[in-house]
Amino acid sequence: MDTPLDSASTPAYDDVRTAPRALATEAVHAGRDDLARQGLHAPPIDLSTTYPSYDSRAEAARIDAFATDGAELDGTPVYGRLGNPTVARFETALARLEGTEAAVAFASGMAALSAVLLVRSAAGLRHVVAVRPLYGCSDHLLTAGLLGTEVTWTGPAGIADALRPDTGLVMVETPANPTLAEVDLRAVAHACGSVPLLVDNTFATPVLQRPAEQGARLVLHSATKYLGGHGDVMAGVVACDEELAARLRQVRFATGGVLHPLAGYLLLRGLSTLPVRVRAASATAAELAARLADDPRVARVHYPSIGGAMVSFEVHGDPHAVIGGVGLITPAVSLGSVDTLIQHPASISHRIVDADDRRGAGVGDRLLRMSVGLEDVEDLWADLDRALGERPGPPSVRGLHEVMS
Ligand SMILES: *Cc1c(COP(=O)(O)O)cnc(C)c1O
Repeated sequence: MDTPLDSASTPAYDDVRTAPRALATEAVHAGRDDLARQGLHAPPIDLSTTYPSYDSRAEAARIDAFATDGAELDGTPVYGRLGNPTVARFETALARLEGTEAAVAFASGMAALSAVLLVRSAAGLRHVVAVRPLYGCSDHLLTAGLLGTEVTWTGPAGIADALRPDTGLVMVETPANPTLAEVDLRAVAHACGSVPLLVDNTFATPVLQRPAEQGARLVLHSATKYLGGHGDVMAGVVACDEELAARLRQVRFATGGVLHPLAGYLLLRGLSTLPVRVRAASATAAELAARLADDPRVARVHYPSIGGAMVSFEVHGDPHAVIGGVGLITPAVSLGSVDTLIQHPASISHRIVDADDRRGAGVGDRLLRMSVGLEDVEDLWADLDRALGERPGPPSVRGLHEVMS
């Protein structure tokens, strides 16, 4: 169990914890500020599911307080589903990076989104307004109404008109999965009025975009992607104000989508290199996007104006041949890892979305989505170039060939 922070307080230490710090500094120190005072360097992993307590009257009062206001429990933890110190460190760090009061971690991105929908439904606000495209399973969860919600799909300009008295949430993703379409968050936040806006910030990460500064009340991450960053941890997190965080903690406690403490540790470790990873991979992605845009085998390239490490492109030829032709690049769904991944959204990540809805959202059958990692740009280009297959010959030769055949 961690020493209570107060016993470790000194003026310099308090300054360090409360002073405004740059993102790169927060990435390394937020959620870990107390460690040195405790004689520790790496964050401790607390795997306990339960904790001893000799004062059950005090526990009753703490549990009553949690049931009423959802505040994080002070002092010794009680039970793993109520809160875990290692996971709490990750939550503190992510809230600092997104510039929100709090963050609540979940077992996956979908568990995080489910908890948000349940919180709003429990308040009697079952209607959701959402902008396509979203991540395929988010689209599916809303369209199928699996949690009893009802969705109205609209474009960013249609949000204000789509709001109803029972609208509990507006949801957008920017840059969106998989087309990398961007929405103007300030304009959308304005259109939402008093309805909370949820922004899925998985693709941008707080390194490139902090939606809370632009009016989002909830910022969601599939932490499985860039926050973890190494393809070895599944997690989700919602950064928001304390009022919504309290409700999310209560839903998490009651429905059980908790993050494992080891995952909390891995995420904290991932966060420390997040700015470096995102900037390096983005530089490579921008270069690959430029080369693809110049390539006659490629019909269209999607690359966000804010940058990032995702590139999507449409090929003239068979997209399945590209997937089958990569060597260095891994043909796999998911994204945000240190290695480069490529996948065909219409077959995998967005397969669960109805084909017409999918195409209507700009997810064409020739679209490929690539998550650029930390490999050397020339090695990646050589692999892509090979996977894209034969280049068409110069136009004059092609013309001659057509005449002769
Ligand atoms: C992967 C993903 C999700 C879902 O997250 P999981 O951790 O797989 O549950 C949600 N949103 C976006 C943008 C994603 O890429």
